[in-house]
Amino acid sequence: MFEFEANPNPVPASERAALLENPGFGKLFTDHMAMVRWSDTKGWHDAKVVARGPLSLDPATAVLHYAQEIFEGLKAYRTGDEGTALFRPLENARRFRESAQRMAMPELPDDLFLGSIEALVKADREWIPQIEGGSLYLRPFMFASEVFLGVKPASEYLYLVIASPAGAYFKGGAPAVTIWVSDHYTRAAPGGTGAAKCGGNYASSLVAQAEAIREGCDQVVFLDAVERRWVEELGGMNLFFVFDDGSMVTPPLGGTILPGITRESILTLAREQGITVREEPYAIDQWKADAESGKLVETFACGTAAVVTPVGKVKSRDGEFTIGSGGPGQVTEALKARLTAIQRGQAPDTHGWVHRFG
Ligand SMILES: *Cc1c(COP(=O)(O)O)cnc(C)c1O
Repeated sequence: MFEFEANPNPVPASERAALLENPGFGKLFTDHMAMVRWSDTKGWHDAKVVARGPLSLDPATAVLHYAQEIFEGLKAYRTGDEGTALFRPLENARRFRESAQRMAMPELPDDLFLGSIEALVKADREWIPQIEGGSLYLRPFMFASEVFLGVKPASEYLYLVIASPAGAYFKGGAPAVTIWVSDHYTRAAPGGTGAAKCGGNYASSLVAQAEAIREGCDQVVFLDAVERRWVEELGGMNLFFVFDDGSMVTPPLGGTILPGITRESILTLAREQGITVREEPYAIDQWKADAESGKLVETFACGTAAVVTPVGKVKSRDGEFTIGSGGPGQVTEALKARLTAIQRGQAPDTHGWVHRFG
C-alpha cells in the first residue's frame, strides 16, 4: 500500500546508537516519513514512505493563513524479540477522522492511518530506544496544502507521519507538578473545537501556559468557558481526582474536553479494579475545599506523552492549595504501573489494546 523510497543518507548506526542513549522528547527524528496526498479530484493517493526532509510550501498555502490542521500522538514500543507494538492505534485513527470532520477536512480511512504508521515504524524500527521507558513517539498530522487565499475548506491536503525517539518523559518516575488555574483565558467553548486535536487549540493555549510559567507553575489548568467554574483539563492532558473513600472523578466529555485515549484506558482499568469512577463536573471551589478537608487525596493528569503525571499543588490568583502529601499518590502510581505494563507487553492484554506487528 505504501511505496518505499529508502533514505540514501540515513544516520550511521553508531551515531544513531549514541543519540538514542539520551533521546529526550521531540527533538530527535528518524530517517523517514510517511505521506499521503488528497485532492478533491483524486481522493487519497500517492501513499509512500520517503526520506524525512523539509517541505517546500508556497507562501499562499491555505494552512499558513487559516490553520486547517489536525494531528495525533501515539507510541511504538519494542516487544522483547524482534516485534513492535502500538497501543490502541485504531482509537487514534478514529479520533483523527473525528478531528477532520470538525475542521471540514477529508477523513483518512483507518487502514491508511494504520498502514502509514506500520510502514514508517518498519522502516525506522532501529530508532526505537532500548533504554528503560523508551519508545518511538509517532506524530501523524494533516494540513490544507491548497495554494489559495479564499476562505473555504481547501481542495488539497497533505497527510504526514514523522517519528521521534523518546526517553522516559520524566526520568525515575514523574515528580508531582504544580498547576496554575487560568482565570482569564479559556481553552474551549461549547460548539468550538475543544474535542478536536487541532493545532489551533494549542496555539490559543500558549499564552495561558506562559502565564503559568511566570507564576512559577509547570502547567495550566483550564476552567469551562461559560461559568468559569468547572475544571476541564490541562493544555494537553486530562484530569482525574481520587477521594478518601477510594472513588474517582473525571470531568465528562461534552465537546469541550479532548477525549483522551489514556483517559479512557484509565477509566476502564480503574473500574475493572472495582474503583467507582464518576464522569461528572467538578468545581474549582470544590477541588480546593476537598483538598483542604482531606476528602481529596490525589489528583493526576494523563496523556500519551507523559502517561500519568501527579498534581501536587494548585495555584491561582486567590492563593494555593496542596493535594495530599504534595507528592505522587498510591492510586496514581498503581494505575500508571498497570497501564505502562500493558503498553509494553509486560502484563496480559485482556482488552485487545496492544497491536503487535513486524
Ligand atoms: C492529546 C490530548 C490529550 C491526551 O490524549 P491521549 O489520547 O491520552 O494522548 C488530552 N488533552 C488534550 C488537549 C490533547 O490534545
